[in-house]
Amino acid sequence: MFKAILIEKDDAGYRAGVTELADDRLPEGDVTVRVAYSTLNYKDGLAITGKGPVVRSFPMVPGIDLAGTVETSSHVGYKPGDQVVLNGWGVGETHWGGLGQKARLKGDWLVPLQAPFTPAQAMAIGTAGYTAMLCVLALEKNGITPEKGEVLVTGAAGGVGSVAVAVLAKLGYCVAASTGRPQEADYLKSLGAAEVIDRNTLSAPGKPLAKERWAAAVDSVGSHTLANICAQMRYGGVVAACGLAQGMDFPATVAPFILRGVTLAGVDSVYRPRDQRIQAWQRLASDLDVSKLEAITTTIGLGQVVETAGQLLSGQVRGRVVVDVN
Ligand code: NDP
Repeated sequence: MFKAILIEKDDAGYRAGVTELADDRLPEGDVTVRVAYSTLNYKDGLAITGKGPVVRSFPMVPGIDLAGTVETSSHVGYKPGDQVVLNGWGVGETHWGGLGQKARLKGDWLVPLQAPFTPAQAMAIGTAGYTAMLCVLALEKNGITPEKGEVLVTGAAGGVGSVAVAVLAKLGYCVAASTGRPQEADYLKSLGAAEVIDRNTLSAPGKPLAKERWAAAVDSVGSHTLANICAQMRYGGVVAACGLAQGMDFPATVAPFILRGVTLAGVDSVYRPRDQRIQAWQRLASDLDVSKLEAITTTIGLGQVVETAGQLLSGQVRGRVVVDVN
């Protein structure tokens, strides 16, 4: 038996809670992992509360991230005792996920735990942090360097935003952090933000083109915010777009793209090829100051997951949430 969060949807409604499950209920897979830590990402919040159509089959153990130790494996790449990390691949959406003490998965989805991170640190980073690094890699791929000018990070006090601020600052960028929580200004500055701006200046409908300011941006918010960012980009600027915390819409014009040569780089973490995942984790190992992870992270147990999921969606959670599933 093992404990897990189970989401059910039937005539009695949509509900999630901690349950004891028998091992024989684990789904098919060639690797069984004894989970040490999982996390709560925005997507997990949507899945657990039912506020977004994330879960594709029921019952479902949510959790798009996990870190743990291989218990049994028939996959050539893994043997019992190996420490592994999983991010995405539809886990927690279509396949039982990390918010439980055991998971059975496809070995092809796993990556080895990246040194020097502990399982808890890897989950403090989680999909949000790994996506933040994918955004940084997208900026670099499009020619952005610290000398090009200021970089804007939106949703800065959230998971993706916090890690993006910390990484970009360590790489020498001048980072402006956009947040709706002015009380988190000191936190954002401690992560390396040079300036904190009020997200309300970006969230209302704006003009197709505005005064040129940003060389690059990491946006986890979407909607009018993303449209306004594009309008404020400097000539040749690059925006890495990964999220929809404000909305999935993109009410923009082509003006920034055709008149200022702005690049909009879309970032997906879920089905990212394995070599790029490993590259992102290696770069996190070199470019994220692990001492910053402590300030970014809150740790909870399985029993607090449902309540915290609601708080996360209402923007009350700062940084990242690690779940100690044991
Ligand atoms: P969090 O909830 O931790 O952070 C989201 C942040 O967005 C909040 O903390 C808040 O920051 C800001 N925000 C929330 N609501 C609004 C709003 N109405 N208008 C403007 N800003 C808002 O989530 P994550 O960091 O885990 O994820 C961020 C986004 O990125 C989500 O949309 C998620 O789905 C997406 N994502 C996408 C991935 C991909 O593969 N493409 C992978 C991971 C995440 P503040 O309080 O500072 O304003």
